Amino acid sequence: MSARRASCLAAACLLAALPAAAQPRALAPHERLAREIYEELVEINTTDTPAGDNTRAAEAMAARLKAAGFAEGDVRVLAPAPRKGNLVARLRGSGAGGRKPILLLAHLDVVEAKREDWSMDPFTFTEQDGYYYGRGTSDDKAMAAIFVANLIRMKREGFVPDRDLVVALTADEEGGEHNGVEWLLANHRPLIDAAFALNEGGGGYLKEGRPFVHNVQAAEKVYYDFTVEVRNRGGHSSRPVKDNAIYRLAEGLARLGRFDFPVMLNEVTTGYLERLAQVEGAPTAADMRAIARNPDDSAAARRLAAHPVYNAMLRTTCVATMLEGGHAPNALPQLARANVNCRVLPNHAVADVRETLVRVIAAGDTAVKVSPTPAVRGGPPSPLADEVLRPVERLTRRMWGDIPVVPTMGTGATDGWYLRAAGIPTYGVSGLFGDMDDSRAHGRDERMLVRSFFDGQQFLYDLVRELAGGRPVS
Ligand SMILES: [Zn+2]
Repeated sequence: MSARRASCLAAACLLAALPAAAQPRALAPHERLAREIYEELVEINTTDTPAGDNTRAAEAMAARLKAAGFAEGDVRVLAPAPRKGNLVARLRGSGAGGRKPILLLAHLDVVEAKREDWSMDPFTFTEQDGYYYGRGTSDDKAMAAIFVANLIRMKREGFVPDRDLVVALTADEEGGEHNGVEWLLANHRPLIDAAFALNEGGGGYLKEGRPFVHNVQAAEKVYYDFTVEVRNRGGHSSRPVKDNAIYRLAEGLARLGRFDFPVMLNEVTTGYLERLAQVEGAPTAADMRAIARNPDDSAAARRLAAHPVYNAMLRTTCVATMLEGGHAPNALPQLARANVNCRVLPNHAVADVRETLVRVIAAGDTAVKVSPTPAVRGGPPSPLADEVLRPVERLTRRMWGDIPVVPTMGTGATDGWYLRAAGIPTYGVSGLFGDMDDSRAHGRDERMLVRSFFDGQQFLYDLVRELAGGRPVS
């Protein structure tokens, strides 16, 4: 690692090597503003509960933008329902070059957090030991605060981009009935329409406190549930017969357990394997390169797939997650049912996934029924465009040294898939680094390194300025 870091600026290297708590920070005015906004956002409860209010958070951000000189018409709070408000704000560009706007997306809502589960109050912004603590500090209020603070900074500096910059801070990404991105696309598309979007889902990993890789999420798997069901006429359990719904379902699920979908790569996952091979240990790196060259290399795929993260990158996965069956301890089951949760590659047709499930689970047993193909959702991988990736690489090198920028495919889900499905390429990129073995998003004592927050702010400021103005940042 030290040889890899040789090219980073001396100051950046020094910072990276120091333990987090040892760096007191004197904040610049734009950093103080970002911290203030971050604190305000974390302390507004935006859970999908009666105590949560997304509109309050959206309005607080709108007030700050208007106070900084944004016109009324360029700062909108739009709510499909009480407490489910979304903020859309626009920094107008000159229009030189005729390029469409850039959308900067973050969600305001957070996962529920209970005081008794945490070491501190999750809705009190707390700075301790070089970290900011609080629900949403990593998911996703750091990005939301940074986007607002940077937009205000640009306004104050008199920066006029070539193209409009649109910040959207939305509701119900984590769940709930009023997903802001879906609703804005359906009802106010012109307000958020863009050439491409920057979103959560990326960010950097620290290994033992040092920057290791910087991820750019450019694709996401798509979530589908299938129901597998076997019905039987049942009877008295004192007179069993061989034809039993539970046994037939169990046999089908056991076949699924032994089955793997084929390896299918796309531009993003090929790039992921190639780039990650630069920092992985020798045998794994060789397997990554082998599969990137030839996805049919089954020996390399088998070794790599032993790691659940890599397995999920290589193929569509489907796994039994819930079971129900029978209606009485002394009766033969009339019904046995399982939920099978699939994470489908963005370039894999869901109809094909279902056909495969029928073939593998039912295997000719006509009593085993797999639910119909769900409605199509999700979008294609976003192209790894030089326009976006080059500046990310250059700025990454400048701030964190010679670490790889790795394109990734999310195996969970963010709002990026609504945008990609609507034809807006979306990149998860933040410059926010965290410990790769200690992600606390959705969990207890969620936190963000103080240093990482301000690094991320600077990174996103430089990146957005370059993307918006075409002015190269050296
Ligand atoms: Zn999130």
